[in-house]
Amino acid sequence: MKNTVDMEKLVSLCKRRGIIFQSSEIYGGMNGCWDFGPVGCELKRKVKDLWWKDVVQHHDNVVGMDASIIMHPRIWEASGHVANFKDVMVDCKECKRRYRIDHVEGDCCPECGGEFTEPRDFNLMFKTYVGAVADDASVAYLRPETAQAIFAQFLTVLNSSRQRVPFGIAQIGKSFRNEITPRNFIFRSREFEQMELEFFVEPGTDEDWNNYWVERRIKWYHKIGIKPERLRIRPHEKDELAHYAKSCVDIEYEFPFGWQELEGIANRSDFDLSQHQEFSGKKMNYRDPITGKDFIPWVIETSAGVDRIVLTVLADAYEEQFLAEDDTRVVLHLAPCVAPVQVAIFPLFKKPQLQEVAKKIEENLRKHALTSYDEIGSIGKRYRRQDEIGTPFCVTVDYETLEDNAVTIRFRDSMEQERISLDRIVSFISEQLDF
Ligand SMILES: [Zn+2]
Repeated sequence: MKNTVDMEKLVSLCKRRGIIFQSSEIYGGMNGCWDFGPVGCELKRKVKDLWWKDVVQHHDNVVGMDASIIMHPRIWEASGHVANFKDVMVDCKECKRRYRIDHVEGDCCPECGGEFTEPRDFNLMFKTYVGAVADDASVAYLRPETAQAIFAQFLTVLNSSRQRVPFGIAQIGKSFRNEITPRNFIFRSREFEQMELEFFVEPGTDEDWNNYWVERRIKWYHKIGIKPERLRIRPHEKDELAHYAKSCVDIEYEFPFGWQELEGIANRSDFDLSQHQEFSGKKMNYRDPITGKDFIPWVIETSAGVDRIVLTVLADAYEEQFLAEDDTRVVLHLAPCVAPVQVAIFPLFKKPQLQEVAKKIEENLRKHALTSYDEIGSIGKRYRRQDEIGTPFCVTVDYETLEDNAVTIRFRDSMEQERISLDRIVSFISEQLDF
C-alpha cells in the first residue's frame, strides 16, 4: 500500500503534541536543525534502546563505545573526508543563493537569472578551532560520522575487551554535516544522530557476515513495527559505490516523498584500518591467539540514522481514520515497544476514590512501562489525545473498580474495550511490550 501520509499534517501533529519542533523557533528557526519535545525524545530514546539491545546486548561478540565528537584532524585525512567529502557548488552573484552544480541546469540562477561564480568545492564538515588561537594548526572538525572513532580505537577496544575476530564495535551519537539543502522535515538535517556498527571479520568470511547483518537489520525494522511492504533492499550499482566499499546495500523505506535510504550496509574491505595504519604509523593487524592467522580485518558496517528512523516510525504509523460523519480521528499505530507512552491511566471522574486507585495503578505500571495519568476532559477526548501520540493501551478506573477490583482496558487500534482484573494488569501490559 502506497504511503500517502500528508507530510504537512504530520509536521503539524509533531508540533502540536510535543514530538518535534523547529530549532530556535522564537528567533525565526535554524534551518536543518530540529528539537525533540517531551513525546519525541521518548520515541527517539526507544528507537536507540531497541537498536542497542538488538545489535549490542543480544550479541556476545559486539561491544559498545562512546567517543568524543571532536577528534584529531588527521583522522579525517586518513578517512578521506578532508579530500572527498564535498560537493561542487556555485553561488548566484545577484541573490547569493548557493546550488550544487549537479542540481542546476544551464549556467544562470534558476531563481533570478543571475550569473554564477566559478564552481568551487564545499566541504560538508563543520570546521572549528580548538584552543585560544584560530590558526591552521588548531583546525578541528565536528565529526561527520561516528564510524571513524571506532576504527581509530580498534586496537584499544580489542585489547581491553577480550574479543576475537569476528567481533563488532557499536556506537550511537551525534554527527554533523553542513548539508546545502536540508529537507523533508527531519529526513536530512545538519545535526543528526547515527547508530553505527563496525563488524571486524577475517577476509574471505566478509560476504557471509554481510548477509547476516542485512538480514538481521531488516528483521529489526519488522520488530519495531514498520510495514514490510514499505521496506526494500537496494544493492548499489558499481558506479555509485563509495571509494572504500567493496559492496553496499541500502535498506530503503517508501516515504510519502518516495523511496529513500534508511540505512546502508557496506562491505568496507580493509580500507579503513589500512588507512589508519598508514596515517598513524600504528600497526592495525590482528593476530588470532588460537589459529595464529595474522591479517588486517575487513569491516562490515551497518549505518543508520536515528532521526530518519523516527520519521519512518511516525510516517508509517500515521492515519486519519474516518469513523463517522464529522468524526475523524488521528491515530499513530505505533508498535507498543516504541510508543512514547505505552499505557495511559484515567479515573473516569475526578473523584478522590477513583483518583486514588488510578494513581496507585500508575505507580505500579511505571516500573514496567512508560505511563501517563490524565483526568482532564471527557473520556472520549482523553482517548483521542492518546491516539494522537500512539498510546496503545488506556486503562480506566470507574466506580465498579471499587467493587470488582477490575478496570476497563481500551485498545488503540480496534478501539475495543475489555474488563481486566487489577492483579493481571502488570503482567498483561509487560507481555504486550515485548521486543
Ligand atoms: Zn539568483
